Amino acid sequence: MTNINVCDILLASKIGTIPILERQRKMEKYSRQRQEILDFLIESYSHPTAEEVYKEMKKRGSTASKGTVYRNLNFLTDKGIIEKISIQNGADRYDYLKTPHNHAICVKCNTVFDFEYNFNAKKLKKTIKEKTNIEKFSNYIIVQGICKKCLENQNF
Ligand SMILES: [Zn+2]
Ligand SMILES: [Zn+2]
Repeated sequence: MTNINVCDILLASKIGTIPILERQRKMEKYSRQRQEILDFLIESYSHPTAEEVYKEMKKRGSTASKGTVYRNLNFLTDKGIIEKISIQNGADRYDYLKTPHNHAICVKCNTVFDFEYNFNAKKLKKTIKEKTNIEKFSNYIIVQGICKKCLENQNF
């Protein structure tokens, strides 16, 4: 990296290539930022939104832009490394499934709760395939409801 100066980059962009070292440096930066995001999700139990992941990265001194955080979350989701939990009336949430578990979502406050439940996944998938058009499945069951706190506060 030390051998590259602005002129090199300008020259390279004029002829349509980026010097290999510069490209490598960028790739290393991206994969380091991706690892930082993954590390946070591995230690987190809060099912954060992309915005919350971005804020946490900033707090930890990361220079990753919001766009980079969103791209990395999509990348990790596409690769099946993390799970994206779609929320009906709110931002998607992200989770790293350290151990297999299912999700119960409060439709009022969008809190995501984890629960373990042993079921016959093969039988369940067979039933769903028979009765619906769904062919590909997420790795967990999603149940929607209203949490105790929202019920007590009559938060709706
Ligand atoms: Zn709630
Ligand atoms: Zn979870």
